Amino acid sequence: MTKEISDSGWNFDNSYARLPKTFFANQKPTPVGSPQSIIFNEPLATSLGLNKHALQSEDGTAIFAGNKIPEGASPLAQAYAGHQFGHFTMLGDGRAILLGEQITPTGQRFDIQLKGPGRTPYSRGGDGRAALGPMLREYIISESMHALGIPTTRSLAVVKTGESIIRETELPGAILTRVAASHLRVGTFQYAAGGGTKEELRELADYAIKRHYPEIEDEENKYLSFLQEVIKRQALLISKWQLVGFIHGVMNTDNMTISGETIDYGPCAFMDTYDPATVFSSIDRQGRYAYGNQPNIGVWNLARLAESLLMLIHENQEQAVTLAQEKLSEFAGLFKKNFLEGMRAKLGLFNEEKEDASLVESLLNIMEKHSADYTNTFRALTTDSTRELDLNGIPDFTEWYKQWEARRDRQKESKDSSTQLMRNSNPGVIPRNHRVEEALEAAVDRGDYSVMERLLNVLSNPYSYSPEQAEYCSLPAPTPQPYQTFCGT
Ligand code: AMP
Ligand code: MG
Repeated sequence: MTKEISDSGWNFDNSYARLPKTFFANQKPTPVGSPQSIIFNEPLATSLGLNKHALQSEDGTAIFAGNKIPEGASPLAQAYAGHQFGHFTMLGDGRAILLGEQITPTGQRFDIQLKGPGRTPYSRGGDGRAALGPMLREYIISESMHALGIPTTRSLAVVKTGESIIRETELPGAILTRVAASHLRVGTFQYAAGGGTKEELRELADYAIKRHYPEIEDEENKYLSFLQEVIKRQALLISKWQLVGFIHGVMNTDNMTISGETIDYGPCAFMDTYDPATVFSSIDRQGRYAYGNQPNIGVWNLARLAESLLMLIHENQEQAVTLAQEKLSEFAGLFKKNFLEGMRAKLGLFNEEKEDASLVESLLNIMEKHSADYTNTFRALTTDSTRELDLNGIPDFTEWYKQWEARRDRQKESKDSSTQLMRNSNPGVIPRNHRVEEALEAAVDRGDYSVMERLLNVLSNPYSYSPEQAEYCSLPAPTPQPYQTFCGT
């Protein structure tokens, strides 16, 4: 297949559109009045094989606004289902349209999706639109997650639509261009298992395997291996969230990817003070998606994937259940192993000792008991500046510190290389809620994007320990109400 790559570098394939019709609806974006480019991710564009100059033009803005369909794209809305806060619902892209898959110069395949481009057959009562604040928030946090080394969807551009949308108040409308390894979700499989034929489910599974796990294509029970691989990726992903204090906030099964990327930055936020019960989302009243509960929800969601795959795993459903349960039971161990490995690196430890898990646990307990800031505690250990911590002088902490020093001394690596390992593992800066809010307020209320640009710049190098980081490490001033996030729909 040879085809022209456009001047902008678009090189679309549309493999998802070749799946059975039940999985999508062809749908074009609804054009908007007067689109205006707000932010464009040059390095990401280049890595996708796109021409950053050609796209920073009226033509590019028209594409990111949904006013022009790029050559080779085949816009569609994807169908999926999902458990939202434990309740099963039929969903689908109600405010997102997949333009197609960009094939990069190195042959990688990425979904290019517009978020907020107007109604689709899955919009139910919604308007299919998105507001500027939440779209910029997704841009900031997803790009920060990428810089932190955490698998995630990326953000290529945000444009203002020039139209208002109505929420509790009138808000400026915007569209985010999201880039993802794919948008296949646990919920896509729930949709297939619930409403489709066995053959359609098989086609979806084969498609996902080909796209994300080609190494298992020839395995004897590839659908069981598929479940196992998704479990592995999610155990790794969620351990990475825990290690940086990221709280997703809405881990519904439709917001869990098959690829193992973080998706859907709605009410997510980073934890300041260490407390496993931390919840930011205003709608998560039971703490279902609290920081400390994320691994449990991870495996709960994966059990929904397993249920959806039972038909393919074994003809005998009882045996299928046994096989799937065996794989699910591995999640906890995988998660723990990844988490402990990550914690060892955060503490500058190269080798393994039996007591490491309790050394980590003691530190976390001390942080919880004394309401210590999670990121800054690890930062202070890294920069040898624990004197500046509130924990300084607290006997528990002094005792712990001695144990940690002795533990570090027992390894053969030098203190310098241990510190280097810590610097590579403990972000000096995270997108703190008050900093993100400050940037969004300047952008949305005053049209001043400089605050956001400075923030993005610092967040793009979280492990640099550069002097510019210092001012972004300070904690928010105490507020009468705890910080809250909203779904941003
Ligand atoms: P989310 O909370 O972003 O994961 O969205 C949950 C579901 O609601 C998905 O099916 C979305 O497509 C849909 N949705 C969210 N906002 C809107 C909107 N403004 N219009 C239509 N559908 C929406
Ligand atoms: Mg979602």
